[in-house]
Amino acid sequence: MIQLSQALSELDWIPRPKLTALRRLGIETVEDLVTHFPRRHEDRREFAGFPREESDVPICLCGEVVKTQLRRFGGWKKIFEATLQESDANALSQPLVLRWFNLHYVQKMIATGQRLVVFGKPRLRGQRLCLEHPEFEVIENDEEISVHFRRITPIYPATEGLSQRTFRGLTYRALESLDEDSVETLLPHGVDLGERITALRQIHFPTSQADLIPAREHLVFSEFFAMQMLIAARRSAAASRSGQAHCGAGVLLERFLRGLPFDLTNAQVRVIDELRRDLAANRPMNRLLQGDVGSGKTVVAIAAMLLAAEGGFQAALMAPTQILAEQHYAVLCRWLEPLRIKISLRTADRQEESFLPLVSGDERPDILIGTHALLYEGVSFDNLGLAVIDEQHKFGVSQRARLTAREPAPDVLVMTATPIPRTLTMTVYGDLDVSVIDEMPSNRGKIITAVRDQSKLGEVLSFMRERLEAGRQAYIVYPLIDESEKLDVKAAAAEFETWCDRLRPFRCELLHGRIPGPEKQAIMDRFRRGETSVLISTTVIEVGVDVPNATIMLIENAERFGLAQLHQLRGRIGRGEHKSYCILLSAEKSPETVAKLGVLEKISDGFEIAEADWNMRGPGDLLGTAQSGLPALKLGNLKTDVRIMREARAAAIAILEADPDLEASDNQRFRRLIVEERGRTFSNVS
Ligand code: ADP
Ligand code: MG
Repeated sequence: MIQLSQALSELDWIPRPKLTALRRLGIETVEDLVTHFPRRHEDRREFAGFPREESDVPICLCGEVVKTQLRRFGGWKKIFEATLQESDANALSQPLVLRWFNLHYVQKMIATGQRLVVFGKPRLRGQRLCLEHPEFEVIENDEEISVHFRRITPIYPATEGLSQRTFRGLTYRALESLDEDSVETLLPHGVDLGERITALRQIHFPTSQADLIPAREHLVFSEFFAMQMLIAARRSAAASRSGQAHCGAGVLLERFLRGLPFDLTNAQVRVIDELRRDLAANRPMNRLLQGDVGSGKTVVAIAAMLLAAEGGFQAALMAPTQILAEQHYAVLCRWLEPLRIKISLRTADRQEESFLPLVSGDERPDILIGTHALLYEGVSFDNLGLAVIDEQHKFGVSQRARLTAREPAPDVLVMTATPIPRTLTMTVYGDLDVSVIDEMPSNRGKIITAVRDQSKLGEVLSFMRERLEAGRQAYIVYPLIDESEKLDVKAAAAEFETWCDRLRPFRCELLHGRIPGPEKQAIMDRFRRGETSVLISTTVIEVGVDVPNATIMLIENAERFGLAQLHQLRGRIGRGEHKSYCILLSAEKSPETVAKLGVLEKISDGFEIAEADWNMRGPGDLLGTAQSGLPALKLGNLKTDVRIMREARAAAIAILEADPDLEASDNQRFRRLIVEERGRTFSNVS
């Protein structure tokens, strides 16, 4: 008998090299192994006959290899082909060709005479029906038929260094020898989804297709329930922290708003009200402000900071890049000058105080603006009342916690321009209150987005020159994946020369992450003042940068960016009254790329784009479970399992509402869900 929590290294039936491979997959304990869930199942009780035509639905077949062949083309490229004949074939059955391109390891695994199980979509290639790059498994003679065949068989995700068969064998054995008492069912009362041990067994080796459904339901529910318990606990912990009211009377705010060169949108007014109420309350605020790029979140943040400052507290504004911190600093100094607020800038490169007379004669700044240097460089906030975190998705959980986990608790406002589909706010940000700016300022020029083939660069250029001659400015953006790579910087520098030639006599400058801070700032300032017409840049300009006269953006190799990021980048233009143009250059013609870039041509609303992005990328990739500090989901799908998520959430909230400290004896079993995870999150905060 083995225990669920037991380390796999204690089990002598697992060969040592396999342990290493398992460890590479993050699998160390029996529990890790049995919760490495199958990606899909193959019904191997009875195989389908060989197909005669193409199909878009992948099929699972079994047959015998009657011939193999290696063909070369174009120098070093190779195609390996294996011809598969249906076992016990009747006379009509056509053999099927399996093909792999440039995968020499496949060739070593497959030989004439072997029996294979294959899985793939049949495609007509010339006269022949082929499966290209099918998944396959070789049936060996000494096969444990009962584990791998004649049943609904699990197929696992990435098993690097382990064959499907090895992996399946280990899982089978672990489940067989598992001590049932060590597998605790952690479900709330009233949720009748059976025992966890049964669910685990059935999800791997279901007795029938129908048995998969309740097994999955049980496991997804428990997974969501654990997550929601954690979120509910965070929420109640935050609510029980001692807070203070941090709200002044609003005189400064009034003066600030009167001095603004524009009227607030209704959405901005509404959100400022929400913030004001939170600031005035004794309990700490934990609020997420969502608003599309350019919706005017900064003004709202300033309003909140002024309320806190007038209440006698310090406010801090943390930005993810130096460029953005400097920009905020400049904006605040300009707008707040008449109010005699003391503002201070802290970045790794620069520390500066605004030279404004102090409100009260004391030396401490009312508002601090900085990058995360704000956290590290011995800044003492003796009196922090409000922490605002801009573009919060760029920060890690622990970075945020460092600024906000202090006593007494400051009010916390996190802002993001990455729109989050509603079902996600329930999870990733489930412990925050949410405010949304769902309205754009009315003075905005339209952004026209067009996808162009690289070969159309000539036309694009003459269009750009025309706009530049009219006095506008432009960004040209390069997808440097890793800013730290020297090679990429070199590439950008080379491209820069080319662009200078192309756009002569307009002045171009190059901006990327490896340029030292002060120089970066000088480049940005020249662009802002209009002395430079074109900024050739990496994604350092992605967040926050605000230069209304810049109305053209050209994005090179646009296919390399994600939708959300392209939308962010595009948000740098369309900020003034002029019509703006975003040109996505791409030479790639794959259907995925065409669909992806097409979304941007059609849709300008960030929320719709986020939904589309989510649909196209499919499940699994949840934006930012990492930044939420929640454990990654192993089975649940936030898109298709919304119903289960709702139920799990309601159950978790009900339990913690009735018993906030989980003191009831019946609730003791849930403590583990929270304690373990909390340990994990806070061990990062150092
Ligand atoms: P984001 O929400 O992307 O952070 P910003 O706060 O940078 O957007 O605002 C974008 C631009 O819009 C700034 O130049 C800002 O001064 C301006 N702005 C903000 N609110 C309004 C408004 N109500 N009307 C007109 N312009 C506004
Ligand atoms: Mg912003």
